[in-house]
Amino acid sequence: MSSFNVAKFGGTSVANFEAMSRCAVIIENNPNTKLVVSSACSGVTNLLVELANGVSDEQMRTELLQKLANIHDAILAELKDATETANEVYKILDTVTSLAEAASIQSSHKLTDHLVACGELISTHILAQLLRERGINAVRFDIRQVLRTDDNFGKAEPDVPQTAQLAEALLLPLCRDHVVVTQGFIGSDEHGNTTTLGRGGSDYSAALIAEAVKAEGLEIWTDVPGIYTTDPRIAEKAAPIAEISFSEASEMANFGAKILHPSTLVPALRHDIPVFVGSSKEPEKGGTWIRHQVQSSPLFRALALRCNQTMVTLRSDKMFHAYGFLAKVFEILAKHKVSVDLITTSEISVSLTLDQTDTSGGAPQLPIAAREELEQLCTVEIEQNLCLVALIGNNMSESRGYAKQVFGTLEDMNLRMICFGASPHNLCFLVHESVSRQAIQKLHKELFEA
Ligand code: ASP
Ligand code: MG
Repeated sequence: MSSFNVAKFGGTSVANFEAMSRCAVIIENNPNTKLVVSSACSGVTNLLVELANGVSDEQMRTELLQKLANIHDAILAELKDATETANEVYKILDTVTSLAEAASIQSSHKLTDHLVACGELISTHILAQLLRERGINAVRFDIRQVLRTDDNFGKAEPDVPQTAQLAEALLLPLCRDHVVVTQGFIGSDEHGNTTTLGRGGSDYSAALIAEAVKAEGLEIWTDVPGIYTTDPRIAEKAAPIAEISFSEASEMANFGAKILHPSTLVPALRHDIPVFVGSSKEPEKGGTWIRHQVQSSPLFRALALRCNQTMVTLRSDKMFHAYGFLAKVFEILAKHKVSVDLITTSEISVSLTLDQTDTSGGAPQLPIAAREELEQLCTVEIEQNLCLVALIGNNMSESRGYAKQVFGTLEDMNLRMICFGASPHNLCFLVHESVSRQAIQKLHKELFEA
């Protein structure tokens, strides 16, 4: 195990000069931090996604490009010696301009990834220079040399062994004498094409990089002081959690507690790397440690809410006492790379929700080709405007009595797709979007504020 620490800073943590300077203080305060993974400056990836979707109106395109330039110019203006960095930044912005023009004629997933990766490529130039100006021996590194992925543009999968090999050869030697500043979110396929790991993917990148260099710890710096019992914007009495297990935190991330990209903990867990989550704005507030072994394992740990759910219900009489029906359904879904999240079944129907993992935003869609193939087998009904509520805790499948408490609290709400029992760590269901916040508020009051 390397004796160093990887620190990741999210978009809001590097939003402007002041924010980046706070990151610098955090880095200075921990001499073990040798590797810094950065997101794009806040708002940049959204602008790039807009351009990548193809903006044919030239004036609108110019406005978007101007906004991008402004965000970065404002930081460059605060640097003491910005000349070289500005040159690098402007080279990338030129690339953005030509790719945006190409996208306005015809977009593709490959082009999109190349374009949206530019946010991180730029922010790391600036952050590295800012650190150097404060006397830190910082160097920027292009992570595309190391983070090898497949070519599933928009949500590429990492090649873990190759990434580890490349990190050992190219990245580790640099970390010996430098603080290396590199990009989250992006990688490259075997042909050198730029890929991305999906929106919010820089947490995942940081964990993959921490794994590849066998780091001692991973710090995720964001805009909230750690993980809370639920989103404090929904329930104001939500409380911070000082320490939480990998399994509980993974459930939370999976169920939409937006604090971590859902895949982040997979590499950390594989290598048992403790993960810290805190706010770069208020580092003095502390944060949450996610570890293998924790002091306490309460029955109820947290509540998560994930909206924009797409529920697909498949019905067929042929399912009655038949075998192989579900196998066929999942074969079709697998063929069209549709990732399924929750499932409930009855004798002649199965309901499932679709996973949201790509860069597009909005509710996940069932691809038309998949729908057509499914319709040869059964009826297909699609419902939206649903939210997933998840109660996360410990030993839930072995405890008694609390289902009454949960469902009693929500007795006037229509609960759909109740899933319970497969994991000892959660109980979850869907509710209509219009009552989702209320469901969280009521449950939080009943289960966490007593
Ligand atoms: N910049 C990317 C995004 O906004 C990745 C990240 O911030 O995690 O999705
Ligand atoms: Mg982010």
